[in-house]
Amino acid sequence: MRRKIRQAERINTLGELAASMAHEVRNPLTVIKGFLQMVQSGLEGKNRRYIALALAEVDRAERIISDYLNLSRPKIGKTELMDLSGMVQQIVLLLKPMATKQGVRLYTELRNEIYVHTDRNQLLQALVHVTRNAIEAAEDGGRVYITLAIQEEKACLNIRDNGKGMSQEHLERVGTLFFSTKEVGTGLGTAVSFRIIEAMDGSIRYESEPGVGTEVTILLPLAQESLLAAEG
Ligand code: ADP
Ligand code: MG
Repeated sequence: MRRKIRQAERINTLGELAASMAHEVRNPLTVIKGFLQMVQSGLEGKNRRYIALALAEVDRAERIISDYLNLSRPKIGKTELMDLSGMVQQIVLLLKPMATKQGVRLYTELRNEIYVHTDRNQLLQALVHVTRNAIEAAEDGGRVYITLAIQEEKACLNIRDNGKGMSQEHLERVGTLFFSTKEVGTGLGTAVSFRIIEAMDGSIRYESEPGVGTEVTILLPLAQESLLAAEG
């Protein structure tokens, strides 16, 4: 037990270092990107493709940096009362282009008046990471379902896909730093999500079966307003 606590503390200090480095590295990357785009517009053929490759790598570096930044600051900032169905609709809006490109359909089963008191941006981050993974796991023609409900007097968000699923060994590693089975993965998304949900006094659980799919259940403390709405 004691060892666990110490380990968490160390990750925190490393996280702070990562945050300041990420900020510093982001600026030159933005400059590099801008110049590459300028050069690219004047080129053709092979050279144009080389610049496109370089730009894609800059994008990748930026993605890694923003994942790191999120890892190091899962502090819950300004909290507000919000209806979760609006949040789910926002996620669908954000991720639909990506899903469509992969031939994956998103389905929602929502309920109004499930309220939580929380930091909107942090929750959005966590849910986008989880939903993006579901889309990435689904194959062409696959489906991702997002469901909202009240369970055990908690707000319950369920994200289910019929994608490739995970082996028992992978299931145990999900949510740990740098675990990724993807060629271009950072292995930071679920680690960030776990930290955010835990900082919100919530819980996140993964169930999965290879070849069948994965189901993620997120429970969050329910705001009093939901119960009032249910009674009224
Ligand atoms: P990344 O997406 O960059 O690989 P994540 O931390 O988001 O990193 O996810 C870690 C790993 O967990 C993924 O590489 C994948 O193997 C596994 N994983 C997460 N969600 C799912 C899912 N819905 N279906 C199958 N595998 C998943
Ligand atoms: Mg991911």
